[in-house]
Amino acid sequence: CGVVGIFEHPEASNLAYLGLYALQHRGQEAAGVVSTDGQEFYNHRGMGRVADVFSAKDIKRLKGNRAIGHVRYSTTGDSVLRNTQPLVINYRHGALSLAHNGNLVNARELREELERAGSIFHTDMDTEVILHLAARVDGKDAGERLAAALSQAKGAYSIVALTETRLIGVRDPLGFRPLVLGRLVESGGYVLASETCALDLIGAEFVRDIEAGEMVIISEKGIESRRPFAPVGRRMCVFEYIYFARPDSNLDGINVYNARKRIGHELAKLYPKDADIVVPVPDSGVAAAMGYAEATGIPFELGLIRNHYVGRTFIQPAQSVRDFGVKVKLNAMPSVLKGKRVVLVDDSIVRGTTSAKIVNLVRDAGAREVHFLVSSPPTTGPCHYGINTPDRSHLIAAQHSEEQIRKLINADSLGYLTMDALYRAMGSRETGYCDACFSGDYPIFKEIGAEERQLR
Ligand code: 5GP
Ligand code: SF4
Ligand code: MG
Repeated sequence: CGVVGIFEHPEASNLAYLGLYALQHRGQEAAGVVSTDGQEFYNHRGMGRVADVFSAKDIKRLKGNRAIGHVRYSTTGDSVLRNTQPLVINYRHGALSLAHNGNLVNARELREELERAGSIFHTDMDTEVILHLAARVDGKDAGERLAAALSQAKGAYSIVALTETRLIGVRDPLGFRPLVLGRLVESGGYVLASETCALDLIGAEFVRDIEAGEMVIISEKGIESRRPFAPVGRRMCVFEYIYFARPDSNLDGINVYNARKRIGHELAKLYPKDADIVVPVPDSGVAAAMGYAEATGIPFELGLIRNHYVGRTFIQPAQSVRDFGVKVKLNAMPSVLKGKRVVLVDDSIVRGTTSAKIVNLVRDAGAREVHFLVSSPPTTGPCHYGINTPDRSHLIAAQHSEEQIRKLINADSLGYLTMDALYRAMGSRETGYCDACFSGDYPIFKEIGAEERQLR
């Protein structure tokens, strides 16, 4: 998911909406904005992409100088209107609205407890658990109540919250998901956003990353930073750099595009191939392929062209077309690929089904050899922290050896990034990353004494 918050701007809801536009890659299922003028709360949410959810009229109706927004990518809960964010509640302390990126690992237990105590839930989202908890705990302000609620929650959360008087941003103690602070120079206001690319679009100046375990409270008095949780050390999601974040964003001080290019350099060291061209699977493989080409001197070519305008569903022709589902998104160019030894670069192999089809497309276009390089280590485990990977039984690398995978996707050779190479590209391992879906080292489970396997 992607989140954004605007504090003090006459067009707050418009800026929130634009921020969501820049964060669209973080979720295309649903979008929403909640705004306030300090008294009333206004909200508009809908299914689909930002452009489809909001009209100019909708934005006009979202009054006030403060707003938060959310784009949804579902990890828990069905994809229905009821499960869209930001959520708004009225409780004994007034109104509280919340938008959440991440996933709580103990949401089910917390929800069962709350339901036994009489809570009535309106959605399937773990985000609602946080609101129910916040309504129950004590605290002298909304920040304290939210912190008290969150100290019962375990898992990943980068949250923006809105009350009548405050915009609050909080990142879980491990800091799985990004969250940045920006400044609206002209209005003197503040912006919170999942990624810096959202600041760029609305002309906000980057101030700093919200730190793992930090809560910032923005009010008319200015900005206050709190440390409500016991420090545990950062475990930022390394897959944000490999795949999820936008290349033009800087996450915790590292530019995503540059990180991906350095990963490409590492792939070149690991797998120097006798090949004629380097071809990315667009868009996710582009930067790593450029890095590989740069390091090896093998020409970079766009042998696969992506259609960016494909929606979630399309009407298939009655007469079956081989690999139609992939072909509608990607077309292979014989003029580039014919007779060539091709290094094909993509960010990850999850189920392996798409990768197999892509290799087929490239072969059908006349490629003589296809060497498949992956800019991440083998994906051997699910993510419990906000990225929607299938469970282990569907992960090809959890079920098969690399040689078996090579055969299944019909490549002449297959090379994955190694963990060491990944961290050479990231600069250091010591900064603290989560790499559980590659390493099996799941943060939190050890900490709460539970076993990861109980979850799936
Ligand atoms: P597979 O071969 O496993 O079927 O598909 C691999 C492709 O899925 C890669 O191109 C990769 O970019 C993409 N991918 C990896 N992770 C995700 C994800 O979390 N969501 C979506 N939609 N695609 C992903
Ligand atoms: Fe990121 Fe993988 Fe950790 Fe999930 S398990 S937070 S995708 S590194
Ligand atoms: Mg891809």
